[in-house]
Amino acid sequence: MRPTGTGPRAGDDDEPLSPESTEPLIGESRRTGIAAAPGIAIGRAYVVDRRRLKTIKRHVAAEEVDIEIARFRAAIIESDGQLARIKEKLVAREGEDHFLILEAHQLMLHDEHLVDASIRRMQEERINAEWALRKTVEQIKGVFDQIEDDYFRERRSDIDFVGDRIVRNLLGLETGPVAPPPDAVVVAHDLSPADTAQLHRAAVVALVTDAGARTSHTAIIARAHAIPAVVGVENLTQLVGTGDLLIVDGTEGLVILNPEPQTVLLYRARARRQAAIGEALLANRDLPAETLDGVRVRLFANIDVVDELEGALDHGAEGLGLFRTEFLFLGRTDLPTEDEHYQHARQVLERLAGRVATFRTFDLGGDKQTPFGAPASREQNPALGLRSIRLCLTKEGRPLFKEQLRGLLRASAHGPLRVMFPMIGGLAELREARAMVDECREELRTRGEPYDPVMKLGVMIEMPSAAMTADLLARESDFFSIGTNDLIQYTLAIDRVNEHVSYLYQPLHPAILRIVRSVTEAGRARGIPVSMCGEMAGDPMLSMILLGLGLEELSMNAVAIPMVKSVLRASVMAEAQRLAADALELATAAEVEDLVQSRMAEHFPGDVLRSR
Ligand code: PEP
Ligand code: MG
Repeated sequence: MRPTGTGPRAGDDDEPLSPESTEPLIGESRRTGIAAAPGIAIGRAYVVDRRRLKTIKRHVAAEEVDIEIARFRAAIIESDGQLARIKEKLVAREGEDHFLILEAHQLMLHDEHLVDASIRRMQEERINAEWALRKTVEQIKGVFDQIEDDYFRERRSDIDFVGDRIVRNLLGLETGPVAPPPDAVVVAHDLSPADTAQLHRAAVVALVTDAGARTSHTAIIARAHAIPAVVGVENLTQLVGTGDLLIVDGTEGLVILNPEPQTVLLYRARARRQAAIGEALLANRDLPAETLDGVRVRLFANIDVVDELEGALDHGAEGLGLFRTEFLFLGRTDLPTEDEHYQHARQVLERLAGRVATFRTFDLGGDKQTPFGAPASREQNPALGLRSIRLCLTKEGRPLFKEQLRGLLRASAHGPLRVMFPMIGGLAELREARAMVDECREELRTRGEPYDPVMKLGVMIEMPSAAMTADLLARESDFFSIGTNDLIQYTLAIDRVNEHVSYLYQPLHPAILRIVRSVTEAGRARGIPVSMCGEMAGDPMLSMILLGLGLEELSMNAVAIPMVKSVLRASVMAEAQRLAADALELATAAEVEDLVQSRMAEHFPGDVLRSR
């Protein structure tokens, strides 16, 4: 279950920039947030509160207005130059991913809604530049707030970062990189993409933010670099000071402030145990995921950005089972071109050196909005709306979809590349998507561009309608990948981003087990591989039952690979099949959970699986 963002909201127009007075905390206290990246860390806080700026509010005389406007314009030019310099550095070191976000920030700096509206305020209300800008930023954030979509609401922070940078330049304050000492726990209201990208190299031990959700940049980058992180811990920056001792449990989403000595000892022991398990498990990196009786399962990684690739290989990924290409579209105002898709995929294949890469065509809409497509604000139910492959097959979406397909086809000349289509509802959609691939092949052939003529095309099984027609889909697909995050959402009718129904998110519900079984059977009947790439695939407690249900490939967050592999290497196929068969006889999710837990406990020390 992906929790929703719960960052504090701006109240009056001064709230986020001025510190609230809070009583110092005495003794140990605990705060919970969203578990964004697993692991335990203990360290001294380094508070990065770029927002503790008092907005100076001043009315100005008529003749001063032009001076304020000039100051404002100069601060924008200064901010632009700073972002350009960060961008240059990042591109040289990291590739294009963060560059795109910074470019979006640069565009925002010059956006008329920000610039013209602020200048109008200075002229009409006769107020100073800082105050006018502050009011404009709050007004724009208010518009973002109206949008009933987590992704968009999180983008409020982008406008904050931009506004903050201008204010700092107006005030002549430091805007340089965050530079925490090694082993620090970075505590921030929110971190800009530029900050986060620099932080992961600064040997920090954990990240904690007031704002954010699992799709925020902090969470994505922390997971990719195995830095324990908790996000959405409301008001933490108001409670913690630099130098305070903190325990961060990124697995449980818990932050302990000023822990008692015995709590530190307890968590040190837990961290040591987790580290020892992690280290020991990494020893299986180059070993195959093969059961004791010789059944081979392929373990792949899910990634969102190229940056995560090295970590995936370090954890023993045999390839990529899910590359969420929609991240190429996020955080920018223009759209990726064929050539960008090509260069991106080619770079991935080259780094994978012969291992397979599965690119999921862009899955926008729903909880991942861009200016392109139907705004979620206009949809009553974005998860059931114009998202994913549906968007690609609209008149507006087709040209963009073809840009991507041609880019991927061209890249397929450089290594084993598979393409899969998300949210396919039935054979008609699959045929339409495949026909577009054929069109693209034809166009490339005419242009004389090389591509793999037998590039594999697969279907994500994420909807009950796809699952029920898996036998039909299997005839015209090269592989299946079960996306359990959406499959569970649509089968059990629970919004995957609504915390109020998260208790109903039950991977072991009999309905889900039956669907998984029927999909693996449909795949086997046509001789096509069946993979699973939803979160369920990375839960080691479920590895044995998934094996028994007939999954041949599991794709997951790379950090989970060593543990899942160790479970599989200690499993026997006949036992896994017995577990699956027994589970399929049961009536409720709770009964299945009990059965799975008791069978797993017979084989694996409970402690090992608990610390996953
Ligand atoms: C899924 O739905 O299980 C899946 C892997 O796709 P996403 O989480 O990106 O929707
Ligand atoms: Mg999905």
